[in-house]
Amino acid sequence: MADSKSLAKAMTTIAGAAIKAKSPFLGSALMGKRDVADGLLKLVDRKFLTNLNLGELENATVESLLKDPKFDEIQQAISNALRLAQLDSAGGLSDPTLGKKMFNWLLTAMGCDGKLERPNASNAKDLPDGAKGLPTFEYQYHFQSVPTAAFDTREAIVRCFINWQAVCGAKFSETKDPDKANVLVKIESIDGRGNTLADAHIGPSDGFQLELRIDDSEVWDTEHKFEAAICHEIGHLIGLQHTSTPGQLMNSTVGTAAKPQTEDIERAQQKWGKSRFMKKKKKKKRR
Ligand SMILES: [Zn+2]
Repeated sequence: MADSKSLAKAMTTIAGAAIKAKSPFLGSALMGKRDVADGLLKLVDRKFLTNLNLGELENATVESLLKDPKFDEIQQAISNALRLAQLDSAGGLSDPTLGKKMFNWLLTAMGCDGKLERPNASNAKDLPDGAKGLPTFEYQYHFQSVPTAAFDTREAIVRCFINWQAVCGAKFSETKDPDKANVLVKIESIDGRGNTLADAHIGPSDGFQLELRIDDSEVWDTEHKFEAAICHEIGHLIGLQHTSTPGQLMNSTVGTAAKPQTEDIERAQQKWGKSRFMKKKKKKKRR
């Protein structure tokens, strides 16, 4: 079986070939990144990267790889893994904790279910350079528990998912089956009233699921405040870190924004491409 060292060697070769084959995205992501080496090793262990025969690749050269008919498949498989793992174009994990955990979780998810789909030709053009032909990952959320308030908190959470789906290529849908879910929505005791209102992190089941936790001590007097908190946490679930730019949803302080703002949208689209899963509405709001 492959070890980290032989994989690292094979990866450098793949990276070199990817750059020559005009896939700088993949090439730079693979070049000398320890996180990626470890992640790929897991992919190999889990028999996801079945095309990656490391015994052969260890002795491959950039030139031989470029001629290998399997090289396209190898690139595709690795690109899928990287994008799903929330790696940015420079190859760094976009979020040092969530991103890494998510990577492990996605590796598991990819190996055991069929939730991945490939974009069709009509939506592939919306993907950023280097991400073309990559699969769509669907977030399936399941409501375990929601807080009570004067408004319908469950509906408000659904709206928050839709608000992200409306501005980037991430896809969300609700599932009634907790086993199918990759995001569990629940109320839990976090830190009492105030401070952390909600958080997003890796869930139970050995990291198979992500969790969107809502602090059970909070009092949600306005729908706006609730949506601002939830929409922000969903931003983390799709791999966005905080920004220092004031007024943005992904600023760590809950502010006026309850929806993704200009910079939030730009960052989400860098990861997920443009929105592809919304029915177009013709209605325009007028004041
Ligand atoms: Zn945050």
